[in-house]
Amino acid sequence: MAKTNSRAPSSRQQTYPFLLRQEPSSKWYQQLRSHLKKWFAVNKRDLPWRKNRDPYRIWLSEVMLQQTQVVTVVDYFNRFTSQFPTIQQLAAAPEETVLSLWEGLGYYRRARNMHAAAKIIATQFDGQFPNNLKEVMALPGIGRYSAGAILSIAFDQRHPILEGNTFRLHSRLLGVNADPRSKPVENYLWEFSTRVLPQRRTGDFNQALMEIGSEICKPKKPDCQHCPLAKLCAANALGIQSELPISGKKTIYEPRNQALVIVHSHKQFLARKRTSEEWWSGLWDFFRIDTSSENDATNRRTIEAELQEQIGISISLPEKPTKVIRHGVTKYRIRLACYSVAVDGPMPNSKKYSVVTQNELETLPLNITARQFLSCLPDQDC
Ligand code: SF4
Repeated sequence: MAKTNSRAPSSRQQTYPFLLRQEPSSKWYQQLRSHLKKWFAVNKRDLPWRKNRDPYRIWLSEVMLQQTQVVTVVDYFNRFTSQFPTIQQLAAAPEETVLSLWEGLGYYRRARNMHAAAKIIATQFDGQFPNNLKEVMALPGIGRYSAGAILSIAFDQRHPILEGNTFRLHSRLLGVNADPRSKPVENYLWEFSTRVLPQRRTGDFNQALMEIGSEICKPKKPDCQHCPLAKLCAANALGIQSELPISGKKTIYEPRNQALVIVHSHKQFLARKRTSEEWWSGLWDFFRIDTSSENDATNRRTIEAELQEQIGISISLPEKPTKVIRHGVTKYRIRLACYSVAVDGPMPNSKKYSVVTQNELETLPLNITARQFLSCLPDQDC
């Protein structure tokens, strides 16, 4: 934890003992707004959702950017908006088409929530994105941060934002010497985010804050030399940039083992749509089960027995999987042993699995690791 400085505490510090600096003066706030405005005018990135202030496009970008890097989002955003240029078109689309366009972005709940919200906007708001905070926050998948971002950027309403980048930036600027995710600190940072807003052009201001946070005040190695806020920054003055923000509880990752089997015959595949109780709900997938260990030899018998039970095929798996994919889902670090099994003759009849063609698989929303394994199989293997 960073050392506290030796200056006498101000009244603000008494109220907020986690601050390593005095509560900023009004001059400090003015300078911050002015430096930020000038910096953003020159450094604002040219991003597709910044071409206009259509709230639908801003909403989509905010949803896609949660947990995902800008560079990844741009292509997804362009594909999504060319297929669904309006909220009404999104609302009218089948869920499978929406999930197909989201395939690979992960966190599919975002897409399902957005689809559900589009239907509400189409029916209750005549297809127009609402411009009232309460109504926006009542939509599925939209919390305080997203509502503030959309309303400030699209409608120039004076709402604060606080997300990963601004949590970090504010913690350093203010010298927050405590876990920024703890309730008292989080409350203080929301208050600060409101106090710091200018009277006008709050959308630009909020975007500038997020952009400095993501491009300059990075988690590791913040670029203080090129930071327009360097002279205002407590962490920079104290030389403790790398120590802030103080990290809270570390995620404890759990190992998990799974097996994936593509059962196929002459470019036909056994696949199923995952249910609402499962991970990747609404996406299509091949046969996938949990296994007990990383020992493929031990797992073989279990997988063969499950194939017999669930699909009704009796096969002998190769000793080693064709491919092993390692990936993460929430706190789980998964080792996925992938097999490809060619069936002679007609495909077995299974209640749980459907027979789908290669062409159908191209357009169905498919689990990303299933797609990854499928795409690496040579044609003659299918
Ligand atoms: S001076 Fe450094 S630590 Fe402070 S806000 Fe700028 S980049 Fe972040």
